Amino acid sequence: MSDFDQTAVLDALKAVLPRGDKPIVLHEPSFSGNEWTYVKECLDTGWVSSAGRFVDRFERQLADYTGAKRAVAVVNGTAALHVCLKLVGVEQGDEVLVPSLTFIATTNAVTYCNAIPHFVDTEEKTLGLDPAKLADYLAEIGDVRAEGCFNKLTGRRIKAAVPMHTFGHPVDLDRLVDVCQQYRIELVEDAAESLGSFYKGQHTGNRGRVSALSFNGNKVVTTGGGGAIITNDEELGKLAKHLTTTARVSHKWSFIHDQVGFNYRLPNINAALGCAQLEQLPAFIGNKRALARRYAEAFAEVAGIRFFTEPDFAKSNYWLNVLLLDEADSAQRDALLDATNQLGIMTRPAWTLMHKLPMFADCPRMDLAVAENLECRLINIPSSAVLGARSA
Ligand SMILES: *Cc1c(COP(=O)(O)O)cnc(C)c1O
Repeated sequence: MSDFDQTAVLDALKAVLPRGDKPIVLHEPSFSGNEWTYVKECLDTGWVSSAGRFVDRFERQLADYTGAKRAVAVVNGTAALHVCLKLVGVEQGDEVLVPSLTFIATTNAVTYCNAIPHFVDTEEKTLGLDPAKLADYLAEIGDVRAEGCFNKLTGRRIKAAVPMHTFGHPVDLDRLVDVCQQYRIELVEDAAESLGSFYKGQHTGNRGRVSALSFNGNKVVTTGGGGAIITNDEELGKLAKHLTTTARVSHKWSFIHDQVGFNYRLPNINAALGCAQLEQLPAFIGNKRALARRYAEAFAEVAGIRFFTEPDFAKSNYWLNVLLLDEADSAQRDALLDATNQLGIMTRPAWTLMHKLPMFADCPRMDLAVAENLECRLINIPSSAVLGARSA
């Protein structure tokens, strides 16, 4: 017996969102700062490509904002993840723990290293990797030796774990760090969605040895396409720069490369956009949090559904806002998606879980009951910063 009432849900959305003829998209970028000025400077001076002053400036701004010692700007978040995994020593035939509830990039990056994704479950409190369930699982299948942790079932090394801060909500990092240390597994944070999100006062991406950010068009700030590696390890930071700039050894005129590197450097014109965007990041986050507060109020009394709010240890950027249907009402999900999109309020379900995709169907995995349960009940609703800027 459920009290779910679709009209009440639609009314709550309408109460928060602006009225008008234009459809309200899930997440649109906002270019109301120095974007034109900085990009024009690139065009006027001819510095559009792989050299120029904005890349260094963007990297410094990122390091300042996140509190990380070093930031290295790259072409996109997937490339950042790929290099992060290389930097912590993921090799062919290794297994890498990734949540099944994530965007495809996390899993693809593992595959680019010729490593094997090993899917782990999510906790409902954070929508991210569940440290307690992981600890129990590793107690069963993990065999810690001098060379690292080995999977007793497959014989392969479990080299790294890549928690992801889902929709901007930080995972329980302290507990994950403990589990990873106990089992000698490298921690890499996929912080692609969590620029502007803080865990116990510290910016996300500071607990992994290296972490990845994304500045894709739908992220909190955008460079058109772009990403970054952040780290507090100076040596790894240097190596990240080296690897993502074709591993070229500096020399007056000779082209000497000391290993197979990548052409992953972020072009200056994209970095120019990024510098202007980062100047506005605190305002974007303020607006996004204001929008989330309004949603929370509007949905407080709506039966059968709940607006997801940040875990108590976190200050989240609320990158994409989340509604969770009660378990009893999960059958209403598709009708709700239809009704909202027809009204011009763009909504969408969670990503299809990674272990259900054909190319990853045979990968090792633990019990994924929570991720499967969340997948049926989760809906993303409009989240652009500009929606929170309206008359507060
Ligand atoms: C956006 C995103 C990335 C990176 O994507 P790019 O489009 O390559 O910048 C990585 N992981 C997650 C979870 C993401 O949402």
